[in-house]
Amino acid sequence: MEEFKAFEKNRKIKQFFMGLLFLSILIGGWFWPLLGYFIPLCMFLGIGVGLWRGRKWCDWYCPRGGFNDVFLKAASPQKEIPKFFKGLPLRIGFLSFLMAMMTIQIIKRWPDPYKIGMFFVVLLTVTTILGIILALIFQQRTWCCFCPIGSLGNWVGRGKYPLKIDSKLCTECKLCYKVCPIQVGAYRYKKDGIETIKDGDCLKCQMCVVSCPKKALKF
Ligand code: SF4
Ligand code: SF4
Repeated sequence: MEEFKAFEKNRKIKQFFMGLLFLSILIGGWFWPLLGYFIPLCMFLGIGVGLWRGRKWCDWYCPRGGFNDVFLKAASPQKEIPKFFKGLPLRIGFLSFLMAMMTIQIIKRWPDPYKIGMFFVVLLTVTTILGIILALIFQQRTWCCFCPIGSLGNWVGRGKYPLKIDSKLCTECKLCYKVCPIQVGAYRYKKDGIETIKDGDCLKCQMCVVSCPKKALKF
């Protein structure tokens, strides 16, 4: 338990600073529109990390993820995230919609970098409001389930650096579900032997690994 508390505290500190960075860009962007390029930068970084470690980017590297976990968690009712938000139809639909909108808006504002930057700031603001509403209704990471960067990280990183469960050690205490920021629930993959957790939304955050009292989980 002491090990888990220390690990959680360390992760929270990193997420707190990333959350502050997120707020600074969100507010500062309205005064300096070039800060809006933070969105495409995160997109490239998220996909880059995804090719190597799946959704590891969304753990504490992502400023919005940090903001969600540290600033929104206390206000969230911690309900089960509805499956709809993790489903392919919403993810593909939302990604396609955003890509189409981004293309149209960039063409419309081309070649003014300030106007394009302001479009990204507006996009960041609208998606943050949406994320806050979903956090207040369900759980703080509901937005992360269909966030285009997260979905792309999931798809390009499927099978990379997988979490594994030793079914013989697991007692189904469900602690791994309770501490998981995105409600993967590693215990659900328990069968006979060592099983791979195939959920591409795993953030590789290690919270479940450190919290498991039976040491049944590892990467
Ligand atoms: S925390 Fe460990 S023992 Fe408990 S359900 Fe998860 S894997 Fe099983
Ligand atoms: S399954 Fe474990 S490592 Fe993956 S996101 Fe959940 S708590 Fe983190």
